[in-house]
Amino acid sequence: MVTTPIYLDYQATTPMDERVLDAMMPYLTSKFGNPHSSTHRFGWEAEAALDIAREQVAEVIGADAGEIYFTSGATEANNLALKGIMDVWGRKKPHLVTVVTEHKCVLEAAKAVERAGYRVTYLPVRPNGLIDLDQLAEAVTDETALVSVMAVNNEIGVIQPMADIGAICRAKGALFHTDAAQGFGKITLDVNAMNIDLMSISGHKIYGPKGVGALYKRSGRQTALTPQMSGGGQEGGIRSGTQAPALVAGLGAAASICKAEMAQEKDRLAHIMNRFKSKLFKELPSLLVNGDEEMRWAGNLNLSFPGLDGDLLLANIRSLAVSSGAACASAVSGPSYVLQAIGRTEALSKSALRIGIGRFTGDDEIDFAAETLISAVREMGGLKS
Ligand SMILES: *Cc1c(COP(=O)(O)O)cnc(C)c1O
Repeated sequence: MVTTPIYLDYQATTPMDERVLDAMMPYLTSKFGNPHSSTHRFGWEAEAALDIAREQVAEVIGADAGEIYFTSGATEANNLALKGIMDVWGRKKPHLVTVVTEHKCVLEAAKAVERAGYRVTYLPVRPNGLIDLDQLAEAVTDETALVSVMAVNNEIGVIQPMADIGAICRAKGALFHTDAAQGFGKITLDVNAMNIDLMSISGHKIYGPKGVGALYKRSGRQTALTPQMSGGGQEGGIRSGTQAPALVAGLGAAASICKAEMAQEKDRLAHIMNRFKSKLFKELPSLLVNGDEEMRWAGNLNLSFPGLDGDLLLANIRSLAVSSGAACASAVSGPSYVLQAIGRTEALSKSALRIGIGRFTGDDEIDFAAETLISAVREMGGLKS
């Protein structure tokens, strides 16, 4: 028997891996020093924890440890990248390019960039959720300081073509930032092969703790940015405030586990997701997958249930902890802007469910979830085709 509710919301957050907690414990107890205290051992051991974690995070993406700056999460890293870069480079190059399906924190930071007087282009996406590279190439000009495109979408799981985007940015002399909260540690990301200049990372999407993340920033004068926090000059002056060694050690451990287990985890998730999908589609052939069927992260499945109301469906599957197309990205209800951007009608957007699986999802759980969904849909009168 499975224990309910079954957690199927891995894009919202992931449970922490116990190995991560083990790595954190010393810094919550005996090794409590302030990494900024350079005059004694308590400070040194806390600083050593940061050094190790910086290396662990860097290794996942082919970066140098000195290019990793710890933050409170991906939200802060995104704000730092967009506002910080535009503040330094906007007078020379007053243009930012991003995409309509970005996470709210990128879109809101882009709005702040507009309020600061710069120009922002919000690229549309194709019906499969991917950007059109020709459209990107057209949008990026010699006035473009920064292009920000997420790696993996948090609602529909699609993977944007990082290497192609990076090549376009490099050719046009624009910096390339990616919000990789959902991609880091899950898909192969190489900052050099993909010409990524800045990358945002979140601890709690990779089985680490909440409240910590990082910004990768390529070394060199061309990525100079304005810090968004005034203070003691920690993190190379990029992000003031006493670092949290326990959280940072957790982020580092989580990153290193992801790196070691990436290939096998991806295969396992693809396998159980396929099994889930075939069970569902056999019984409910008029289900619609939102987002590209190939270029996607195997741990995500976003489905529209034609003819059904998502909130009502949710109410009928209380044993499954999933999120609906109405409330995925924000506290504000209403049809998802991501689903609207891929051309789904309001009704289809409102009928959507996001199913997210991950490291601790079992085969029995995925079977139970498929059966639960199928019988709930039947009880509600079935799908319209
Ligand atoms: C979760 C998430 C964020 C926010 O990350 P926090 O660490 O919670 O601030 C940003 N972007 C994407 C794509 C996310 O999935």
